Amino acid sequence: MKIYCAKHGGFCFGVTRAIKTALDAAKEGKAVYSLGPLIHNRIAVEDLRKKGIITVDTIGEIKNKKVIIRSHGIHPDILKKLKKKNFEIIDATCPRVRRAQRYVEKLIKEGYYVIIVGEKDHPEVKGLLGYAGNKADIYSDQLKLKKRRVGVVPQTTLDIEHFNQVVSNLMGNVLEMKIYNTICHETILRIKEALHIAKKADLMIVVGGKNSANTTRLYQICKKYKRAYHIESVDEISPAWFADVKSIGITAGASTPNKQVQDVVKYLRKMFPK
Ligand code: SF4
Repeated sequence: MKIYCAKHGGFCFGVTRAIKTALDAAKEGKAVYSLGPLIHNRIAVEDLRKKGIITVDTIGEIKNKKVIIRSHGIHPDILKKLKKKNFEIIDATCPRVRRAQRYVEKLIKEGYYVIIVGEKDHPEVKGLLGYAGNKADIYSDQLKLKKRRVGVVPQTTLDIEHFNQVVSNLMGNVLEMKIYNTICHETILRIKEALHIAKKADLMIVVGGKNSANTTRLYQICKKYKRAYHIESVDEISPAWFADVKSIGITAGASTPNKQVQDVVKYLRKMFPK
């Protein structure tokens, strides 16, 4: 059995930075609260909880006023609220997400009608909407364009092929379009490599949280080419998957700890010794 494992799978720069920042802050003794999971990975979040990083859904649940802002960033109204209440704020917004927030602000100031391309329920997209003063729209096929000057900002983890399609759909309806390409190069690398592996392997395994948007997207891309499975841990692997299979590809989303990927590789190597 040939096993191809992506070199660019696992934690991205922003997630690594956010986790390190949170762990350093927790070492000071007081628990650190995260509004929403620090990363979209159930197992890793549980591990972080044991180290003093606690996930909550609302400001009211934060017991010691020490809060970390996730790599996805936050809606500016929530940030204002935290500042007003004198919270100790540890800002782990990924600099690349912060850049996208600034572009949105800039476009609004320049009078563009802003369109954000991404998942409407994703925290990064909600934050971007906030930086547009809630005046932007999220792109959808049903969006009726009445504006002539349009500014477009994609979510950092968007598939570039999808973004190209959106830009070309918008093109016919506007007079002027200003595009900031905020798609993170780590996203581009992950998708490119996953596609490359999916084309040569007989079957793909995508490792990562079922609540992780970028892992789910990698899985959807892989399954266009090959039979693919999205798993959170080795326990979900079934030997029945590998009948008539000569090669397996493994990739992982930006919020998957390397250990989870390595566990899958080790498990498969044990199942199929060289
Ligand atoms: S995918 Fe890129 S932009 Fe998003 S958190 Fe990771 S490094 Fe930052």
